[in-house]
Amino acid sequence: MDKFVILKKNEDRRIKAGHQWIFSNEIFDSSGDIENGELVKTLDSKHAILGCGFYNKNSLIAIRFLDSKVIEDLSVLFKSRILYAYQLRKQLYPERNSFRLLFSESDFIPGLIIDKYNDTFVLQVHSAGIEKNLNLIVNILQEEFNAQNIITKNEAYFRTLEGLPVDDTILLGELKKEIIFDGAVSFEINFTEGHKTGFYFDQNDNRFFIEKLVKEKTVLDAFCNSGGFGLHAAKAGAAKVVFVDSSSTEIESAKHNFNLNKLETEAEFIDADVFDYLGELINQNKKFDVVMIDPPAFAKSKKSLPAAQKGYEKLNRMALNILNVGGYLITSSCSYHLSSVEFISIINTAAAKNGKKIQQIYFNETSLDHPRIPAMPETSYLKFAVYRLIN
Ligand code: SAH
Repeated sequence: MDKFVILKKNEDRRIKAGHQWIFSNEIFDSSGDIENGELVKTLDSKHAILGCGFYNKNSLIAIRFLDSKVIEDLSVLFKSRILYAYQLRKQLYPERNSFRLLFSESDFIPGLIIDKYNDTFVLQVHSAGIEKNLNLIVNILQEEFNAQNIITKNEAYFRTLEGLPVDDTILLGELKKEIIFDGAVSFEINFTEGHKTGFYFDQNDNRFFIEKLVKEKTVLDAFCNSGGFGLHAAKAGAAKVVFVDSSSTEIESAKHNFNLNKLETEAEFIDADVFDYLGELINQNKKFDVVMIDPPAFAKSKKSLPAAQKGYEKLNRMALNILNVGGYLITSSCSYHLSSVEFISIINTAAAKNGKKIQQIYFNETSLDHPRIPAMPETSYLKFAVYRLIN
């Protein structure tokens, strides 16, 4: 590894504090002629070595830092980090074969997500360095996990930021459906249709939490996707569950998963826009004991934050309006740009504007298979909060 990059004065501080990104405007000089995705030594302004990472001149994130030592063998480093990540998942979820195995920067392999669905491994490759070394990852998954199928299901947005072609490939085996068990409920995963890598693993622990609140209650699962929250509610003894999503494919998937689990709870599956549906319920004065809302990210960028805040307020006001007194509002936001403090403040405003009194009984972020790096706020995005409606 002969290529190097020298940082401007003081630009080593963030890395020393535990962050893993070096931005392009923090670089003073370089050895030149560095390929995208190449491993480079990173030196501070006094030319002392900080470590090394993947370089990409097309991205604002010029270096994704990997290690404070010079890396001799990338395959050895990848293998130890993937196995270390796996150890945590097996500790936390010993009974499960499906979970987020590796969460990118949070598990110290920047730009790579690996979701494990039994023997099928779905990757998101969001950095040029990983793209260049993908064969190493495939070998590790085959050798260490006996992977049968390895596919990519990338997010176009992140690939574009890295200057990578927007495409997906089958790296091993075939593209087939998997039935996974999350510890209570089974889901059939269709990798061609599903969101993210096929499933929202990030909400899985939170789905278990809601089981405490739903017994013999009427429950609305709005933005249900493949039915995660509503299926846990049904399993935990809800009197009735109504599933709503504006994607007919997802509603079909929720219904399919409901039948797969042989649930006998009364259930309705509604293909509708949640705002329209809540509006109808308000007009008809129909109420639920538990209302769960888990919308897509309204704030995709910092610029769209003000509009997003209004959207969250409106949605939460509508949800509170269809909640029985004594009932629970279970509300989420996956907008990274909206902080937890801002989110809680929005719910408070929504309640105050409706003249309602609420009590927060729970707050959480992502499931335990999505660890966070304290020095990197970018690794934390989900807000999940539970409120009881007092009056
Ligand atoms: N709660 C789900 C994840 C929700 S993802 C789970 O636990 O797995 C967000 C979902 O909202 C997607 O399925 C998407 O189809 C749906 N959606 C987006 N906008 C919508 C709208 N205006 N009305 C209804 N559903 C919507």
